Amino acid sequence: LMQLFRPLDLLGMVYREIRQGLIDMEAMFRLIDTPPEIADAPGAPDLQVTGAAIRFDAVDFGYDPRRQILHGVSFHVPPGAKLAVVGHSGAGKSTLSRILYRFYDIQGGRVTIDGQDIAGVTQSSLRRAIGIVPQDTVLFNDTIRYNIAYGRPDASEAEIVAAARGAAIHDFILGLPDGYDTQVGERGLKLSGGEKQRVAIARTILKNPAILILDEATSALDSATEASIQEALGGVSAGRTTIVIAHRLSTITDADEIIVMDAGRIIECGRHEVLLARGGAYADMWALQQAEEAENGTLVA
Ligand code: ADP
Ligand code: MG
Repeated sequence: LMQLFRPLDLLGMVYREIRQGLIDMEAMFRLIDTPPEIADAPGAPDLQVTGAAIRFDAVDFGYDPRRQILHGVSFHVPPGAKLAVVGHSGAGKSTLSRILYRFYDIQGGRVTIDGQDIAGVTQSSLRRAIGIVPQDTVLFNDTIRYNIAYGRPDASEAEIVAAARGAAIHDFILGLPDGYDTQVGERGLKLSGGEKQRVAIARTILKNPAILILDEATSALDSATEASIQEALGGVSAGRTTIVIAHRLSTITDADEIIVMDAGRIIECGRHEVLLARGGAYADMWALQQAEEAENGTLVA
């Protein structure tokens, strides 16, 4: 009888893998979308993270070699610094994060972390070092505890609660019918965009990566939710090398460096005050957003 059950168990496992693959970005790329040429070099060592300095050096890239997306992109993020990336939709901002995570290999140039070419280290060590809070988090049809601990199944209850507190979602969870055992996702309790993003932040706190990538939500959150998320994110990014892909410029005025992208090129870079004084593309975007916020009455003085 045991023999008969085995194939069914296996099918169940495969089904779970596929289901997870379909709804989790990292797993999705691993199972389906990672092109076969993304492989560890023979005998590749693990990435040795010291300060988590990131360097893009004249990076050329296209998803399809016939259509180049990034043109000679260079920037440097010193250990623990915060880089903000801004620019219109389609400019190539999210592509930078996909390249750093090595979902794709580049066609020209070099990407290094602490001086090590990311194409020459094991993918597992590279991806352990990087935490991504994506624009839109999709939850598993499982408990909220499972969703927070995903990727760290060995996490203790105390660690999970600490992560939820850090993401400002612990009190919300305690108010749910079954607390941390509440079923969420498509077939359970549906969480709002802001709540899902906080689950993603809690996940990242548990992962404790040296490098943090935040892809800010495009859809406007209400200002109270936005403020609480900004506070949670500020806590997570402290002491980590951080790349923020920002839509609301008001959230990145404190960045150590801002790069403005247009059609796969960096057209301006510098700190907020410097870019404003320059009176170029960034200053125009800033003026436009200030006017919009004033009109919508969301301007916080
Ligand atoms: P942004 O994040 O700045 O809005 P992206 O980096 O997502 O822009 O996209 C940059 C360009 O790359 C766009 O023209 C987009 O259509 C293209 N692109 C993004 N993802 C893919 C993909 N998986 N395959 C082919 N082209 C893509
Ligand atoms: Mg994007």
